[in-house]
Amino acid sequence: MTSVQSEKLEKLHAIDRECIHLEQIASLLHWDQETYLPEMGAEDRSDQLALMEGIYHERFTSPEIGKLLAELGSTSDNPRGDEKLPDIERDFLRVVRKEYDKAVKLPNEFVIAMAKAEGLSQAAWVKARKENDFPSFLPHLVKMIDFAKQGAVYWGYTGNPYDGLLDIYEPGMDSAAIDAVFIPLRERLSVLLKDISSKPAPDVSFLSRGYDTSVQAKFNEELMKKLGFDTRRGRLDVSAHPFTIELGSEDVRITTRYFSDLLFSAIFSTIHECGHAFYEMSIPKELRGTSIGCGASMGVHESQSRFWENVLGRSLPFWETFFPLIKKHFPKELADVSVEKFYQAANEAKPSLIRVEADEVSYCLHIILRFELEKKLFSGELDPADLPGVWRQRMKEIIGVEPETDSDGVLQDTHWSGGMFGYFPSYALGNLYGLQFYEKIKSDIPNFSAGADKDNFAQLHAWLNDNIYVWGRRLEPPELLKKVTGQKLGSDAFLNYIETKYRGIYRL
Ligand SMILES: [Zn+2]
Repeated sequence: MTSVQSEKLEKLHAIDRECIHLEQIASLLHWDQETYLPEMGAEDRSDQLALMEGIYHERFTSPEIGKLLAELGSTSDNPRGDEKLPDIERDFLRVVRKEYDKAVKLPNEFVIAMAKAEGLSQAAWVKARKENDFPSFLPHLVKMIDFAKQGAVYWGYTGNPYDGLLDIYEPGMDSAAIDAVFIPLRERLSVLLKDISSKPAPDVSFLSRGYDTSVQAKFNEELMKKLGFDTRRGRLDVSAHPFTIELGSEDVRITTRYFSDLLFSAIFSTIHECGHAFYEMSIPKELRGTSIGCGASMGVHESQSRFWENVLGRSLPFWETFFPLIKKHFPKELADVSVEKFYQAANEAKPSLIRVEADEVSYCLHIILRFELEKKLFSGELDPADLPGVWRQRMKEIIGVEPETDSDGVLQDTHWSGGMFGYFPSYALGNLYGLQFYEKIKSDIPNFSAGADKDNFAQLHAWLNDNIYVWGRRLEPPELLKKVTGQKLGSDAFLNYIETKYRGIYRL
């Protein structure tokens, strides 16, 4: 690398650092909005957030970035730039080039018009969902689909625009690759779910015995520390919808929510968010605060959170270790509950209408339904006006239940009203990546057990660190998967895990 190149890189890094700081400032406003903001503060807060977004956009689309990228040899066709630059810098250039192109290729008036339409669409969706009135939301949905299609055209996608949208959330992935894994997933999970439905449901009545939420909070704080969460570098708060957010390279916040009659809600959302937080907290120091200092994609992030929540957190060895702890907090409520009963209740599977309440078996089926519909909406095979009917029909075929209202059907998720088409598959891909990684963990760590790694899961953290966290966002998901497991994306690891586990629990 020449001294001129290193000077230009330094300049680019300085701008990038500023953009990351602007993002983190906006995140802080956002975190506060979701946790402690008094009701009357909402209006000012939304103005503050809009202002920050404007400043960020202006900084991130400044021609100076384009000029520096070009001078370092990074173009749309050769995003990694000059071959003589160190690998880590070339990975950095690739990410900045891709993001920069996406931001500058959209004309300003288009971005403004889309933001306005999005606000109206989200308000219309809230009302339509409440009143079970799909027709009133339809014109907004049509508009959001048109904006998404137009955006993909600006970005230069010539085939199905849906592939361009998938690339936002899952770089390097397209609908053909996703189809190849979703088809066997749909077939085998539908059969398993049907088999489970014919068996008696586990007794879950003890979960609603009235668990003091302040005692739950104590247990959750204790649990997250035992999983390895360093409270000097993050904290746990309460919000309506649990989330993880990075406010600085040594400050990662998570949230959960407590219900006295739903013991599992807080526990599993805390474990889930811990999985996200561990990923963000463990990115190597030299990458933190840069555009490659975060997770590889939405899907890879979900692979971490779902792995902690489901594969570890809903396993018998895990509760053999932690059941005595929760029993200490709730001795009366759990007096007659055995660890086996607790484990079975944590893994109850049944066909349900609502995605966010779905269990480990049916969750992917909810995603596959949405993926199939999105694909057809963008190829023109499905008219948005026909969505409610097609939704009901496919729910019945894939999951075995049919919603009585559109509020419990096509109107249940916020994603489409916000123009987030192509986001859903990430959730299911996270399950698949997670189990492919887990097969490797088991072969690299002999006798690995979710209950045995008592030293704050040090062994597991070390593995995740060496294999996943270390890359930050340097690799796209398919490259990361190949590097870690030597394989391409596949559904076998997940399906084998889920079939073995649930055939055991339900004695099938
Ligand atoms: Zn998540």
